[in-house]
Amino acid sequence: LFEEIPRAPPDKIFGLTEQFNKDENNKKVNLTVGVYKDNDGLVTTFPTVSKAQKMLEQDEKRNNDLSYLPIIGSPTYRRSVLDFLFRESCPSSGPKLLEENRISFVQTLSGTGALAVAADLLSLFISRTVWIPEPSWPNHINIFKRHGFTDIRTYPYYEDGKLCVDKWLEHLRKNVKKNDGIRHCIILHACCHNPTGLDPTREQWQKILETVNELKMLPIIDMAYQGLESGNPPEDAYVLRMCLDESRYKWSHGLFLCQSFAKNMGLYGERVGSLSVVVPPNQPETKTNIESQLKQIVRSIYSSPPGYGCRVASIVLSSPSLKKEWHKDVDFMVQRLLDVRHGMCERLGWSDLVNYTQQHGMFYYTRLNHHSLNRLRDEYSIYMTMDGRLSLSGINDHNIDYVCDAFKSISRV
Ligand code: PMP
Repeated sequence: LFEEIPRAPPDKIFGLTEQFNKDENNKKVNLTVGVYKDNDGLVTTFPTVSKAQKMLEQDEKRNNDLSYLPIIGSPTYRRSVLDFLFRESCPSSGPKLLEENRISFVQTLSGTGALAVAADLLSLFISRTVWIPEPSWPNHINIFKRHGFTDIRTYPYYEDGKLCVDKWLEHLRKNVKKNDGIRHCIILHACCHNPTGLDPTREQWQKILETVNELKMLPIIDMAYQGLESGNPPEDAYVLRMCLDESRYKWSHGLFLCQSFAKNMGLYGERVGSLSVVVPPNQPETKTNIESQLKQIVRSIYSSPPGYGCRVASIVLSSPSLKKEWHKDVDFMVQRLLDVRHGMCERLGWSDLVNYTQQHGMFYYTRLNHHSLNRLRDEYSIYMTMDGRLSLSGINDHNIDYVCDAFKSISRV
């Protein structure tokens, strides 16, 4: 019986790290996973997060509490994240939504967990059709496939080194029929699109949201990199702010927000995130009903979320002075990523080729083809994902020349 189970392909991103770990070249460079490393190649704890950890250590009562959290998450975490997302990040529309009790909310296992729980809820009750940008984070397809979606479609996002918003919208207009009885969900990367690093302008977002709204699609905003564009986390929630402007858009069946503190607090392995479902107005039962279903979903998968990381995040978010320092930490990280981007482009003279100044976030989308990527890996032990994306913080003063020389030598042939 068991031999009928075939071997699954290695994960497109983590699989390469496994290969990297086995590589014996002492010059090897891992540019695959999106984890921020400092100029010495170390994954360090954000200074503010360190402070919050120390504060937690001293808080005996909270630190020693190893009991279960409630299914939908720690009440303190829920309060501080809702405030962060809907008061600070969306000051003109969010507070009203909170007052009107229109946000169902669960603490989740980071952004991936939020997407998975969202997909479960949607596929159980609302829709099994989702549109994902092409290209996108490869896990989007995995998650939606595994969580009940039977119809996974892609929309064109990027072509010849540029965003192709007109083509994207034309494609949706042609393929999504307003009243065909299918509810179409659509994943929108809130900022720092993974893998291209290219995001629509505010004007383009207006057009995109108008189309999505007109076609009665259900937006799922994936906000995994809040703060990594501008260096200021609340500022980067601009797509959420635009969506919540109810004088403009009426999402007749609500809106989903999947959010993560993995990247912007460096809490990767702690799995700290959230799912918010913004429900339409004048449906007093809906928020509670949805939350009750989210509870059932979480209970059946992992019962309740872990406690440590969310305590750390709550401390950062609920202390005004720590929060200010946190913004500085995020900005410091963004500046280093920019320095690496500039340093590489100067050495490579690639600026005209890849529009590097328009890309932002953790990654550099090089557009190198499979042949070049294989050569980089086999001849130089430089590991990148096969879509040509490289994780910028894997590059530092010690290896930037090695990496850029390798790039130059493979592009010469
Ligand atoms: N969405 C996108 C687009 C991502 O790139 C990531 C992280 N790689 C996530 C969601 C979720 O990450 P996590 O589960 O670590 O929060």
